[in-house]
Amino acid sequence: MQLLKDRIQKDGIVMEGNVLKVDSFLNHQMDITLFNELGKEFHRRFADCGVNKLLTIEASGIGISCITAQYFRVPVVFAKKMKTKNIVGDVYHSRVASYTHGKDYEIFVSKRFLGAGDRVLILDDFLANGEALQGLISLCRQAGAEVVGAGICIEKAFQPGGDIIRSQGIRVESLARIKSMSAESGVEFC
Ligand code: 5GP
Repeated sequence: MQLLKDRIQKDGIVMEGNVLKVDSFLNHQMDITLFNELGKEFHRRFADCGVNKLLTIEASGIGISCITAQYFRVPVVFAKKMKTKNIVGDVYHSRVASYTHGKDYEIFVSKRFLGAGDRVLILDDFLANGEALQGLISLCRQAGAEVVGAGICIEKAFQPGGDIIRSQGIRVESLARIKSMSAESGVEFC
C-alpha cells in the first residue's frame, strides 16, 4: 500500500538490531487518518471472508484493530500479556518470544471471547519472526476458532515469519513488505 510505504520512507527510522522505529505515526503517537486508510484496506482485502472477530495483541495492535473493526463491524479481542506467573481463570494461553524485548512472555484470552464458530482475522503492526502471530494462531486453535487470515501493517520480509506462517496455509496480507533496511541506505520495499 503506497500510502504506508511513503509514510515509512518519510518518518520511519532504522535502528540497531533490525528494528524499524515507527512510533511517530503507528505505535506510540498514532495517526488516525492513516489508520483509517489501513483499516479500509484490510477490510477491502478480507471483506468476503465472513470475519466475525478481530484478534490482536496488546499494546500496539489495539489501535489499528479498533479502527479496522469499524469497517468490519465486529468486536476486537486483544490477547493480554501476563503480568504475573500465575494463569488465573478460564483462559487460553500461549508463550511468545519477543523480538523487540528479547524475552519470552505469556499471552492469554478469556474463553468467553474466543470459541468454535468464530472466524477470526488476526491483526498486528509488525511481522518479523512470526512469534506473536504464532501465539495468536495457537489461541485460536485451542478455541476451535478458524483463522481466516492475518493482516499486517509492516512485514519485515527479510525475516522468516511470513514464510513460516504462509507455509501453514494461512493467508497473510501485509500492507508494506520490507525487503531490506539499514541505517545507511534506509528502507527498500519488496
Ligand atoms: P515477531 O513476533 O513476528 O518476531 O515480531 C512481531 C512483534 O514484534 C510485533 O508485535 C512488534 O510489536 C514487534 N516488532 C518486530 N519487529 C519490529 C520492528 O522492527 N519495529 C517495531 N517497532 N516493532 C517490531
